[in-house]
Amino acid sequence: MIEFQNVSKTYAGDALALRGVTLTIAKGELVYLAGPSGAGKSTLLKMIAAMERPSSGKVTVNGTDIGKLKAAGIPFLRRNLGLIFQQQRLLTDRSVLDNVMMPMLVAGLSRAEAEERARAALEKVGLLARANAQPLALSGGEQQRVSIARAIVNRPQIILADEPTANLDRASANKVFDALRAFNNVGVTCVISTHDDLVLESGARVIRLAQGELQAEAA
Ligand code: ADP
Ligand code: ADP
Repeated sequence: MIEFQNVSKTYAGDALALRGVTLTIAKGELVYLAGPSGAGKSTLLKMIAAMERPSSGKVTVNGTDIGKLKAAGIPFLRRNLGLIFQQQRLLTDRSVLDNVMMPMLVAGLSRAEAEERARAALEKVGLLARANAQPLALSGGEQQRVSIARAIVNRPQIILADEPTANLDRASANKVFDALRAFNNVGVTCVISTHDDLVLESGARVIRLAQGELQAEAA
C-alpha cells in the first residue's frame, strides 16, 4: 500500500534528504523508521502524506502516485491518513474531548456521534478518565496518546507518527507504542519514526536510514 521506488529528495539549497530509497510497506504492517536526527525520517513520512514530493523516483500510496497528485486530490489522500506530527499540537484552550472530536466535526459528523467515537478512542488509549481535562494538565506521554486518539477517530487506514516518543521517559514511551500497536492490531498500518533505538521492540520490522540512505534491514 506504500511503495517507494528509487526515491531521492533534495531540498532548496542542495540539502540531500533522501537518496535512492526503495521500500514497500504492506497493508496492516507496523514499521519503525529508525535513524539519527537528520537521517531523512521526517522527509520520508511527509512524502507519504504528500507534504513533500520526491525530486526523483516514485512514491505510491494506496495506488496514488504522490508525485503526480494534484492539489485537489490531497484531501482525498489524507482522509485515509492519521497524522501524528510535531506541528499538529493539541489545542490548549479546549478540553481533551474537544480536541479528539475536532476532526470528526470537520468531517461533518454530528456532535453526538463525534462524542461517542471520541470517547471510544480515548478509552482505547487509556485516557477516558481525562476527557474533560485541559491538554496542558496532562503529562507529555498522555498528550501524545490524545494525539493518537485524535489521529485515528476518522478511521484512517494508515497512521504516520513522527517521533511520537521524543522527550518521553521509557514508561511513557511504552504506553505510546502500546496505543499505536492497539490500532495496528485492528488492521491499521503504522509507520513510526524514532531516533532512539532503545525503544524498538524486538521482532518488529525496522527500516533504518542514515544520511538519507536506506540501510539493510535486519532480519
Ligand atoms: P530526520 O527526520 O531523520 O531528522 P529530516 O527528514 O527532517 O530528518 O531531514 C533530512 C535532511 O534534510 C536534514 O539534513 C535536514 O536539515 C534537511 N531538511 C529537512 N527539511 C528541510 C527543508 N524544509 N529545507 C531544507 N532542508 C531540509
Ligand atoms: P465504536 O465502534 O463505538 O466507535 P470501536 O471500539 O470500534 O468503537 O473503536 C474505538 C475507536 O477506535 C473509534 O473512535 C475508531 O475511530 C477507532 N477505530 C476502531 N477501529 C478502527 C480501525 N480499523 N481503523 C481506525 N480506527 C479505528
